[in-house]
Amino acid sequence: MSVTPDPSQLDQLGRPLRSLRVSVTDRCNLRCSYCMPEEEYTWLPRERILDYEELTSLVRAFCATGVDRVRLTGGEPLLRRGLDQFVAQLTALEGLREVALTTNGIGLSEQAQPLVAAGLTRATVSLDTLRADRFTALTRRDALDRCLAGIEAARAAGLPLKLNMVVMRGTNDDELVEMLRYAGEIGAELRFIEYMDVGGATQWDAKTVVSREDILTRLSEASGAIEAEAAGAAPAQRFTLAASGQRFGIIASTTAPFCARCDRARLTADGRLFTCLYGREGLDLRGPLRAGEDGQALARRIQRAWGVRADRGAEERLALAERAALASQDELRRDPHLEMHTRGG
Ligand code: SAM
Ligand code: SF4
Ligand code: SF4
Repeated sequence: MSVTPDPSQLDQLGRPLRSLRVSVTDRCNLRCSYCMPEEEYTWLPRERILDYEELTSLVRAFCATGVDRVRLTGGEPLLRRGLDQFVAQLTALEGLREVALTTNGIGLSEQAQPLVAAGLTRATVSLDTLRADRFTALTRRDALDRCLAGIEAARAAGLPLKLNMVVMRGTNDDELVEMLRYAGEIGAELRFIEYMDVGGATQWDAKTVVSREDILTRLSEASGAIEAEAAGAAPAQRFTLAASGQRFGIIASTTAPFCARCDRARLTADGRLFTCLYGREGLDLRGPLRAGEDGQALARRIQRAWGVRADRGAEERLALAERAALASQDELRRDPHLEMHTRGG
């Protein structure tokens, strides 16, 4: 007898599945030092990359399990041709109330308008510095102007924006106030992100992490009192500068993880489901999908994986006595699924 998927199903720690990050490609046009620092990478084989129809079928199955928010990510999602067509397919799905995008912004000059027309709800642009020489050093590409032009195009297209800034000691931690000022000028909420020891971050070192406490101390020294909001379901805890009323967020995954509230799954471009950013084993959904399994059966498969989930990767990392990069270069070369740029951040 077939069982209808139950959207109220919880994992082993009582958490529902509500949000899905879909990595549409593992390729990227930048080489950020905290994500893709190496010279060479093992890429997912092209024939395994799911087309938009296949990805939409999987997202539909996720919706049957209770997912109502999707975020497109990568690699760099705007490198994938016709992303607006995929967004249009997703926004037509029943039960999905939000289709968002995380991007480095470079492709937004050309794509912001078609994406908005297709129904994209909002975008987060990753921007770690406003200084051209520093941008080039950090990403190994001379592309700050294109990123800023992309942000302008997104604003002109009416796309609600957030900015993500990974804060690294000795690299860009002297730009906190400057970045907040810029975010205020463009009407975007800035989220400071602690440097995480995820797969791919082979240069990670505890000494380069700027903690939430450090960030708050520096900002309050420069800008006065800061008020904290109660922590909600979102990964970012929100704060307000008392003097100006400007809001910002901090994602403290490294020093104050939020696993207890994590309702998020990740799908790679070749159809592998990860129930944790730090998970080592994924569940292959491409095989069953390409073998013709129907949506209900796929949804039950997803739900079974969610039902046994007990992941709390970032909390386990925090409890380690010695902390270093999650995976070695050799491991990453053997299994690109361990990479942040494959599973989408
Ligand atoms: N290329 C797109 C971008 O950069 O926005 C989407 C993919 S990227 C993997 C998604 C997010 O992960 C970005 O905001 C990026 O800053 C963040 N990220 C990557 N590596 C990280 C690390 N080691 N620590 C913290 N955040 C990281
Ligand atoms: Fe940078 Fe995003 Fe590309 Fe990683 S995937 S190298 S964070 S732009
Ligand atoms: Fe969720 Fe895993 Fe991140 Fe914790 S480490 S918040 S369980 S994805």
